Amino acid sequence: MNQIEKVDRFRAKNRDNRVWYSGAVHILFNATCLIGTTIGSLFQISDLKPLELFTIPVMLIAGNLAVYLIHRYPLHTKYPYIHKGSYGEHTLFHHRFYTNENFQVVKKEDVDTNSLFFPPVVVIVFCLIFIPSLYFILNLFLPTNIVFLALGMSSFYFILYETVHYTSHLPENHWVLRISHLQRMRQHHMDHHNPKHMSSYNFNIVFPLFDHVFGTCRR
Ligand SMILES: [Zn+2]
Ligand SMILES: [Zn+2]
Repeated sequence: MNQIEKVDRFRAKNRDNRVWYSGAVHILFNATCLIGTTIGSLFQISDLKPLELFTIPVMLIAGNLAVYLIHRYPLHTKYPYIHKGSYGEHTLFHHRFYTNENFQVVKKEDVDTNSLFFPPVVVIVFCLIFIPSLYFILNLFLPTNIVFLALGMSSFYFILYETVHYTSHLPENHWVLRISHLQRMRQHHMDHHNPKHMSSYNFNIVFPLFDHVFGTCRR
C-alpha cells in the first residue's frame, strides 16, 4: 500500500469513528475564547504612547519563538506524562491524517475529525491559566498598557496560528491562497508534513523566522 492509500484509509477510519464531534462548534468555541481574550485585553488599554507600540513586534517575535519550540519539542518528541496529548495528537494523528502527498482537507468531514485545530482544553488552559499568569508576572515590572498589549498580542498570535495552519491545509487553488504569503506558508508547512522531514524542518506556521534562526528551514 502506498502512502496516499495509507492516508486515505486512515482518514476513512477516523471519519467513520466520529462520535459527537462537530468541527463548526470546535471552531466557534476556539474563536470565541481567543477573540474574546484579545478584545478584552486591548480594551484595558488607555492613552497609549507611541513607544508602547513596540510591544507589538516584540510579541510577534515571542509568539513565533513559542510556536517554534512547542512544535519542535513536545509536539514532535515523546515526553513522559504528556506525550499522549501532545506527540500523540500531533505526530501520530495530525501527521498521519495529512502527509505531503495527501495534504489538503478533502471533505467537510476532514474538518469534523478534530484533526486541524488545537483541542478546546488547550484553549481553556491558555485563556484561564496562561493569560492570567502572564498578567501577574508582567504586571510586576511593566506599565499597564504594555502588559495588556502583550496579553492581547499573545492571544492574537494564537488566532494567527490557527488561521494560517488552517489555510495551509486548504486546496492549492483556494481563493484565499492568492495571498502570496499564505501560499508560501502552505508550501513551507507541506514540506514539514513529509514524514521524512517532520521532526527536523519547518516548525514555524505564521512566518518562518525561527526556522531561519535555528537553521531548520527547508525549501
Ligand atoms: Zn499541519
Ligand atoms: Zn508537526
